[in-house]
Amino acid sequence: MRYAELVRAYERLEATTKRLEMRAILSELFLSVPHSELASVVYLSQGQLRPEYEGVELGVATSLGTRAVAEATGAEVAAVAERLKAVGDLGDVAAERLAERGNTGEDHPLDVSEAYLRLLEVARTSGEGSQDAKIGILRDLLGRASPVEGKYVVRFVMGTLRLGVREATMLDAFAAAWGGGTKESRLAIEAAFNVSSDLGVVATTLADGGVAALSGIALTVGRPVRPMLAERAKDLSEVLQRMDGTAALEYKYDGLRVQAHLAPDGTVRLFSRRLEEISAQFPELLADLPKALGAGPAIVEGECVSVDADTDEIRPFQEISRRRGRKYDLERMQEEIRVAMFLFDVLLDKDGTTIELPFPERRRRLEALVQGSPRIRLATQRIVHDVEAAQAFFDESIADGCEGVMAKSLAPESAYRAGARGFWWIKYKREYTQGLADSIDGVVVGAFHGRGRRAGMYGALLLASYNPEKGVYESFCKVGTGFDDAALQALPAKLAPFAVAERPAGIDTGMEPDQWFTPGVVLEVRGAELSLSPTHRAGVGLVRPGAGFALRFPRFTGRWREDKGPEDATTAAELLRLYRTQVRREATEGDDAPGDEPAVPIGRKD
Ligand code: AMP
Repeated sequence: MRYAELVRAYERLEATTKRLEMRAILSELFLSVPHSELASVVYLSQGQLRPEYEGVELGVATSLGTRAVAEATGAEVAAVAERLKAVGDLGDVAAERLAERGNTGEDHPLDVSEAYLRLLEVARTSGEGSQDAKIGILRDLLGRASPVEGKYVVRFVMGTLRLGVREATMLDAFAAAWGGGTKESRLAIEAAFNVSSDLGVVATTLADGGVAALSGIALTVGRPVRPMLAERAKDLSEVLQRMDGTAALEYKYDGLRVQAHLAPDGTVRLFSRRLEEISAQFPELLADLPKALGAGPAIVEGECVSVDADTDEIRPFQEISRRRGRKYDLERMQEEIRVAMFLFDVLLDKDGTTIELPFPERRRRLEALVQGSPRIRLATQRIVHDVEAAQAFFDESIADGCEGVMAKSLAPESAYRAGARGFWWIKYKREYTQGLADSIDGVVVGAFHGRGRRAGMYGALLLASYNPEKGVYESFCKVGTGFDDAALQALPAKLAPFAVAERPAGIDTGMEPDQWFTPGVVLEVRGAELSLSPTHRAGVGLVRPGAGFALRFPRFTGRWREDKGPEDATTAAELLRLYRTQVRREATEGDDAPGDEPAVPIGRKD
């Protein structure tokens, strides 16, 4: 196909904003393209050279584009730059210059496949001398282009094509071209796109075999699947109602969603929720996933969070977010920000794809697949049948450093719905708070052995508040953060006078520390907020039967309250006041990053 023909369609597209018209222009275009060139035309029309997840970029800056236009049209770079300032679009400047030179595009006409391959070369040329090589290719392309062809070549390489063709419009056009424009064909096309994330593959399959051939587009290792998304509910009772009374609840880890693809040769590729490849950012996962998943192929999904190396507590989202996008200093970062991936779904294993299976079966396949390790674990899950059980699980999740629960339908229809947001998954988060107004003085009643750098010493302490009404010390947190080396070294001597072999009377906690202490040492901690927990017993029953206060993300402030005896520690009544006065901020509606929505959400049940 001549590049000039493609450009004619571009001009028509640019002249309209109406989706129906765009659909007609595109479907006409697609039907006129030879099959071998169809994928290139699809990518080019989206301003891309390859499916988005491959991240192929042209790497052409304005200065380079300006030089290419100047050299191709025999103008001074300064003159082109000057004109660009006046006109505002380098494509228009190129068209002007080519018209002045009398280029017709007829001497040695460009065709689509050649233009596509040369542009791909521009993208793939890197390293020393690459700028000149890129300019050389562009000069050659522009030298042969008509003014209007030149305009679009330049706009393409500058990333300013602006045809306004969104993914959804492309899918509409495919349905019009090869599916008779029916709703069913549109759905089938969208489903094929959701598992392949590649419009070029979808179009070529349609052109070769029609809508019926789409079922042959299988999940492929290395090609990310558009993620299944969750709806929201106002409370746990609505969650259960929507799931017909029974649901699998899972911890909702507050981290980065990662889709891991394991090839049979042990190679792992990782994709973000937005389908960008992020393999290089997590070398430790590349090393550990093959051990955890055995011989591939496999595609699994999970949430990556940061965990404390010494106490194994889940750390706040801010920590893992420091690993996002990082390319340098990875070794140090791996040490500093330890990562654990909590797997919650499997899309493919060595027996084939699993996305059509109901969720309970997928979870069984996942459990059978995963050989857990400190770095690769299964998401904590519990099947619940009533609100009380759901609430208890929710409280445990918050106490363990998570942000809420993900409820998952167990219905026969609970297949993995790629790219869709629906009530098969419902997220329920607690309101965020802006931290606690005050610090808390806690009494040390137990200690846990350290791991990693803290092996051989105490890694974390169990703290209690005092309940004068009952004369009992009730636990409210396990704290391992905030101790510097000196504080850690000092712990054994400081605590030794209070160490006892058995749990002392008058201590109420759901935790089992490695070492118990009679109440004696008091220290100051701060935390993000107070939540309710069945494990911790501070002020148990004051807000809800069976639940005590738990301090989330506790941190030792460095102050030993030697001025305080255990009975002077913060009391249950004070904790209740703190709990009630916490600054609450509603969970933001759009807690997803802007633009994170799938282009074409399907499967809504609402
Ligand atoms: P959504 O806001 O619809 O994208 O869904 C919530 C997000 O929670 C998912 O995209 C995951 O990144 C994350 N998440 C954390 N824990 C889980 C879990 N157990 N199951 C599914 N998603 C989870």
